[in-house]
Amino acid sequence: MEREHLIKPLIGTHYPTVSHGQGIYLFDTKGKRYLDGSSGAITVGIGHGVPEILEAMNKQAQQVSFVYRSQFTSDAAEKLAKKMSEITQGDLNWSFFVNSGTEATETAMKLAIQHYQEKGIKGKNKILSRWMSYHGITIGALSMSGHPLRRQRFVSVLEDYPSVSAPYCYRCPFDRAYPSCNLACASELEAAIERIGAEHIAAFIAEPIIGAAGGAIVPPQGYYQRIQSICKKYDILFIADEVMTGLGRTGKMFAMEHWDVQPDIVTLGKGMTSGYTPMAATVASDKVIEPILNGSKLVMSGHTFSANPLSAAVSLAVIEYVEQHGLVQAAAQKGDYLMKKLHELQSQTQLIGDVRGKGLLIGLEFVEGVKASTLIQTAMKQGLLLYPAVAGKTGKDDSACLLAPPLTITYEEMDELLLLLTEAFREIE
Ligand code: PLP
Repeated sequence: MEREHLIKPLIGTHYPTVSHGQGIYLFDTKGKRYLDGSSGAITVGIGHGVPEILEAMNKQAQQVSFVYRSQFTSDAAEKLAKKMSEITQGDLNWSFFVNSGTEATETAMKLAIQHYQEKGIKGKNKILSRWMSYHGITIGALSMSGHPLRRQRFVSVLEDYPSVSAPYCYRCPFDRAYPSCNLACASELEAAIERIGAEHIAAFIAEPIIGAAGGAIVPPQGYYQRIQSICKKYDILFIADEVMTGLGRTGKMFAMEHWDVQPDIVTLGKGMTSGYTPMAATVASDKVIEPILNGSKLVMSGHTFSANPLSAAVSLAVIEYVEQHGLVQAAAQKGDYLMKKLHELQSQTQLIGDVRGKGLLIGLEFVEGVKASTLIQTAMKQGLLLYPAVAGKTGKDDSACLLAPPLTITYEEMDELLLLLTEAFREIE
C-alpha cells in the first residue's frame, strides 16, 4: 500500500475515492453508488452535475476567474450582492463575500463590534451565543460555538464567550414543558445580559435551527420573537447563522422567515453555491452598516479570495436555479412527506427517540445507548449518506444524525432513501 500524504479527518482510515456525482447520487471509483441523504455537509442543495451551473462557471472562467477585491469589483459579485438584498428580509442590503461559513461568522463578529465602535460606544466586544451550537472552526468562531467535541482539544486557547441554554424541548435544560415553561430558555438570555452587562455585549448569535450540535433542533413558537425583543431592549445586535438553513433548505428561503423575525446580520454558506465552488456571505442591515458608512468606511476584514467572480457567478446561477425550479416550496412539501414517513419508521423501531426539523433539514435523535455513528456507518455501507450530530443529555452524545438530501430529490428517490434507512436500522437492531 502506498504511503499517505493527504491529511483526512481520521488519518489512517479508508475513505472511498469519489469518481463523479449526478443528481442526488455520488459514485466511487469502484462503481459503488451512494444516495446523498445529507447533501454532503448539508451543502449540495440542487444536486450534482447541473448543466446550468457548469455553463455559468465556464462562462465566467473564460472572462476572468480572479480579481483582488481592493483593485476591482466584478459584475458577478455586484449582481450577487443585489440578489442577496432582494431575497433577504427587510433592509439586509449589504453583503460581504467570504469563502466559508466560518469566515462569515468571523466577519459578522467584527461587523457587530465595529458597528458600536463607529457609533462611539466603546466596550461592546463580547458576542453571546448558545450552548449546543456550531458557528465555525477557527479560534474566534469556535469560541462562540457550543459544540463540546469540536472545542475540547482547544479549550485552553478559546476566548471565554458566555453562552445560554439551547431551546432543546426534547430534553429541556430546565426540565419544563412548553408552553408552561414560559420560554425559560429565552428568558435566560435576558438574565445573562443583566449579569454580564449590556455595555459589554455587541451581539447574540444563533442558528435558527440547530444543526450539527443538536440534530435539527427547532425552537418553540414565540422563542425568536422573545429573543429579538430582548436584543432590542438592550441594544444588542441579533446575528442569525443561516449557513446551514439558508437558501431554501427549511422550506423558506431563510429559516428566520418561519418566525417572521428579521435579524440585524445573517451569515450564509453551504447551499449558497451548492458546493460547486466555495463561497459564503455575511449580509448586514442598513442599520448595522450606516455608522461605518458615516464613519471610517473601512471594513478591515476579508481574504485574498473574497468576492471572487467565479464563485459569485456560480452562486448567482444556483440561486436562480432554486427560484426557477420552485425548490423552496418543494423543500417544504418534500420535507412534510419525509417527516411523515420518518414518524412511521419511529413507530416501527425502538431506536428513534425524536424526529424533528423543518423542510429538508431533519434530525433523528436516538434513544439512549444507540450510537448514531453505528447507524451512519451501516447506512454508508448500504449506499446511503447521513450526517452526524451531537445531542443528548450532555450535548456531546453520539446520538443524532441529520437527513438533508438535495432539494431536487424526487418522491421515488425519497422512497429509496427511506428503504435504505429502514434496512440500516434493521441491521443494527
Ligand atoms: N455555521 C453553521 C450553522 C454551520 O453548520 C457551519 C458548518 O457546518 C458553519 C457555520 C461553518 O461553516 P464552514 O464549515 O463552511 O466553515
